[in-house]
Amino acid sequence: MNEIVILSGKGGTGKTSLSAAFATIRNNCIVADCDVDGADLHLILQPENYSIEKFITGHKANINYDTCINCGLCIDYCRFDAISLKNGQVTISEISCDGCKLCSRICPSKSIQMIPSDKSRWFAGNYRNGRMIHARLYPGEENSGKLVNVVRENARKISQETGWETIIIDGPPGTGCAVISSVTGTNKAIIVTEPTNSGFHDMKRILELVSNFKVQSFVVINKFDLNECISNKIENWCVEMNIPVIGKIAFDAQIVTAMINCQSIVEWKPESEASKEIISIYKTIFND
Ligand code: SF4
Ligand code: SF4
Repeated sequence: MNEIVILSGKGGTGKTSLSAAFATIRNNCIVADCDVDGADLHLILQPENYSIEKFITGHKANINYDTCINCGLCIDYCRFDAISLKNGQVTISEISCDGCKLCSRICPSKSIQMIPSDKSRWFAGNYRNGRMIHARLYPGEENSGKLVNVVRENARKISQETGWETIIIDGPPGTGCAVISSVTGTNKAIIVTEPTNSGFHDMKRILELVSNFKVQSFVVINKFDLNECISNKIENWCVEMNIPVIGKIAFDAQIVTAMINCQSIVEWKPESEASKEIISIYKTIFND
């Protein structure tokens, strides 16, 4: 199994465009969209889902108004300010509730039950070059790291069932726990960065994180021509640190046009400079 994760310091760096391009170059490919808080790769790959499953993220407090005596004690105890008085009635905000269970313990009339939060979903589908697992974390719900694990486990199951060896993982931005879940056990990590000081800083942070997992790292500088001075700084730093810069993609507005048309840039404008560079990056990563 060959698991390749594509990461970036923040959203909008070009990570998903690169993932989409890889997913549409390679045949018999399994794609795992692990950016569960802001999944959008499915908008380009348009998978036909054959399975939709619930994902329990935790529990939320729920009041039984038949027995509640409206004493307001739960309002005072909730540290997350999830309980308030609305039109004279004690009300819990589902989005603010952290699921800590304290209110259910202190309620004198035992009127608060904890109910499972099951509004998040994960999906398995077929897309034009293979299969795709993706997910949608319901707003305000947590445990994105656990949902990433579900996405990755199911991508691996497909790999075992089909014998297809390549899994492309579109990772979440940043360096949080969902990123750790996306990187663990992969073979290669591609860090997509932009030529800005903050992009450079974020790239260093991710590389530091990835280095803890003994995963081979590569750097791609997207829109490198928007600031060649910082691009050169990034490249020189990578040379010093012995991290291969395997591609520099020039700014191309057609990448966004391709996405709007539900295609990757290599499908939309295969002859463009951006596509040629991405194909070259692909060949380096897959040793094609
Ligand atoms: S503590 Fe219990 S009884 Fe009191 S307002 Fe809250 S839910 Fe109602
Ligand atoms: S479970 Fe915790 S966070 Fe949720 S309403 Fe009760 S006290 Fe507040």
